[in-house]
Amino acid sequence: MENIIYTYGQKVYFNLTNKCPCNCEFCIRHNENGLGDMGSLWLDHEPSVEEIKDAVDNFDFTGYTDIVFCGFGEPTCALDKLIETAKYLKTKKDFTIRINTNGLSDLINNTEDSSKLMEGVIDVVSISLNASDAKKYNEIVHPVYGEKAFDAMIKFAKDCKKHVKSVKMTVVDTIGEEEIEKCRRLCSENGIDLRVRTYIK
Ligand code: SF4
Repeated sequence: MENIIYTYGQKVYFNLTNKCPCNCEFCIRHNENGLGDMGSLWLDHEPSVEEIKDAVDNFDFTGYTDIVFCGFGEPTCALDKLIETAKYLKTKKDFTIRINTNGLSDLINNTEDSSKLMEGVIDVVSISLNASDAKKYNEIVHPVYGEKAFDAMIKFAKDCKKHVKSVKMTVVDTIGEEEIEKCRRLCSENGIDLRVRTYIK
């Protein structure tokens, strides 16, 4: 099946699902005219674990050590498959495995602490913070869960710190200096690194 695995720069990316419970203002999925090659990342169906493992077996990882689970959809919408794939990958090579996530895994998977599953399997979790409070967050992200999403995302980030070596939160540089500073304070209070990303249209 095409589109499960692709490369960008020096990393190998895994695309396991189209699903996402959010509707971010800046989501590349909205940009139908400007998707370019990314348009081909829509999956015609959600791959099974067997299909993913088959894709892994047929991919040449020579020269690659970094794996990223990210879009097109939210990777934790396929959490069980993600964890099983990550475990499988670790049997092949000592990859560094990262998840780029909206941090809503506990709400998506209706569980108290999904980060426990990541222990010893996932090396880096990068969570999109997007904003400094629930109101602003919802204006950008529009999660189906309403305002409880923001607190759930912060809790997930703190839980990840117990189970994952490296946890980062990210914002884009277009939200303004004042808002970036508030996000920096929020991350600092929770002992999490903040990365300010350049917004790419
Ligand atoms: S969380 Fe990610 S995939 Fe989902 S709408 Fe936002 S940017 Fe798009």
